[in-house]
Amino acid sequence: MPGFELFSDLERKEVNDVLENGVLMRYGFDGMRNGHWKAKELETELAKTFQSNYVQLVSSGTAAVSVALASAGVGAGDEVIMPTFTFVASFEAIMMLGAIPIMVDIDDTLTLDPKAVDAAITPKTKAVMVVQMCGSMADMDTLRTVCQTHNLIFIEDACQAIGGSYKGKPLGSIADLGCFSFDFVKTITCGEGGAVVTNNKDYYIKADHYSDHGHDHIGNDRGAETHPFLGYNFRISELHAAVGLAQVRRLPEFIKIQKRNYTILRNALAKLPGVTFRTVPEGGEESYAFLNFFMPNAVSGQKVAEAFKANGVDVCWNYYHNNWHYIRKWDHLKELKSLFPISKEVKDGLEYLKTKSYEQSDHWIARNISCLIKLSWTEDEVRERAEKMVMLVKAVL
Ligand SMILES: *Cc1c(COP(=O)(O)O)cnc(C)c1O
Repeated sequence: MPGFELFSDLERKEVNDVLENGVLMRYGFDGMRNGHWKAKELETELAKTFQSNYVQLVSSGTAAVSVALASAGVGAGDEVIMPTFTFVASFEAIMMLGAIPIMVDIDDTLTLDPKAVDAAITPKTKAVMVVQMCGSMADMDTLRTVCQTHNLIFIEDACQAIGGSYKGKPLGSIADLGCFSFDFVKTITCGEGGAVVTNNKDYYIKADHYSDHGHDHIGNDRGAETHPFLGYNFRISELHAAVGLAQVRRLPEFIKIQKRNYTILRNALAKLPGVTFRTVPEGGEESYAFLNFFMPNAVSGQKVAEAFKANGVDVCWNYYHNNWHYIRKWDHLKELKSLFPISKEVKDGLEYLKTKSYEQSDHWIARNISCLIKLSWTEDEVRERAEKMVMLVKAVL
């Protein structure tokens, strides 16, 4: 991660195909496009990658989450359970539908704690959204059982976990609906883009129509299509899809590099008594997009983050002080700052955020260091980095 580090002639060729015939729209214009259907081809390729029946490309990962929720019928006043550690997009995508995000604790997997999910279920709960943060995953079997027991829709935000798996199944293909982002910094990039993945034909058809103004996409006469229901525009363009098409074909190569770099760093740090790693549920394999390790306590966690920063070890973060990914710094959401009026039901539903504390999440996040694994590092560079990290961590332990 990120895929742009290794752009090549493969990406350029796919983009040139699109520019040469000039059709940037993913639907219609059949006569003009000389057989180029980059978005459709990418959907087919992704369906193979995710071993799933249906893939609907959309304009972003945020759009993917919102479209997935909409396709499953989540709307006004419904509660959606989500983790405290994620990207703000998870919260936004729920709010877009007039639904209410209910944030619950993570555990040492750095993803949803099934016990916290169970405790947060109310008669208004409609869905549970797990976020497979930093390339690893939650205990999916237990979460699925919780969802089945309470008849809840199970949604998987796998935006940061392409290439990882759980009990042999690709992350993003395990819940009722999976969501991916192909934004600029993700392992596979389109520039901007996202995908909804499902085995449920009904959800897929709804995602297909909803993400393109409700058009039914029947026949090849754009003007004659009907609208079974209200939709919006969350389409991807052919140019973006073209980049993604070249990238996704290279996914096995990218994961191999991520794994090599991750393993070198991990093996070096594992020699230090006091350093531990996030729990990966049984049967899980990370995507190796990030290496996450824990220091013995919050103070040493902060110290390592500072030492890394001061000594040029980049792309490593302690998320406790991060305002993109962790609830502590999301004041604009806690105070519900919105450009336009928000319904009373949602306002009331979010009152809990003003007072709720998340000690269990704080416990794990404060001692965690999360290092992005780059694709462009040479093996020598990774070894040098590992040595430097070990030295700096040792000094803090
Ligand atoms: C990147 C990301 C998103 C949003 O994706 P965009 O394509 O940037 O909208 C959502 N969830 C997680 C966990 C992400 O990392």
